[in-house]
Amino acid sequence: MPVTCAIGLGSNLGDPRAQLARAFEGLSALPGTRLVARSSLYQSVAVGPTQPDYLNACALLHTSLEPLALLDQLQAIEQAHKRERLTHWGPRTLDLDLLLYGNQRIDLPRLTVPHAYLCERNFVLYPLHEIYPQACLPDGRTLASLLEQCTMKGLSRLETDAPDS
Ligand code: ADP
Ligand code: MG
Repeated sequence: MPVTCAIGLGSNLGDPRAQLARAFEGLSALPGTRLVARSSLYQSVAVGPTQPDYLNACALLHTSLEPLALLDQLQAIEQAHKRERLTHWGPRTLDLDLLLYGNQRIDLPRLTVPHAYLCERNFVLYPLHEIYPQACLPDGRTLASLLEQCTMKGLSRLETDAPDS
């Protein structure tokens, strides 16, 4: 029985728009997985050291991959984009985070689900709400209730097919 999963995508180095497009292709090609929705792109001011703005988006998957197998696949897509992890929260060509895995809470050394920042980051909550408005956390909180406490500060939704700026 496939599980509904939410993935957060982010990029702020190289050609972020192209990288997110390739990342969506990579997600749609994962074994045992169907890409059921993709959000619009959002531009966000980076958290952490001074660095270029991010492009962010979310994807909704139906997958029969187990959580760690899915994380392996996400990290393989990141590596295919030659991601370099030089500084914590530093710039990256591609970041793929497993936000939600069904209604499961996972607490493993390599994997925390729901993702640690899901509740507080507007660049996750707004795109996720676009494609999964009925989302609910394992503790019962709804995505809608989290959004009520989250402003669009530093975040803008990009028009589909808008030219790069
Ligand atoms: P961040 O996304 O927090 O900015 P990284 O992408 O560099 O940082 O992730 C660092 C580590 O976080 C990864 O090696 C991975 O094992 C771990 N991790 C824990 N939970 C998750 C999750 N839900 N999704 C993706 N990675 C996770
Ligand atoms: Mg990450």
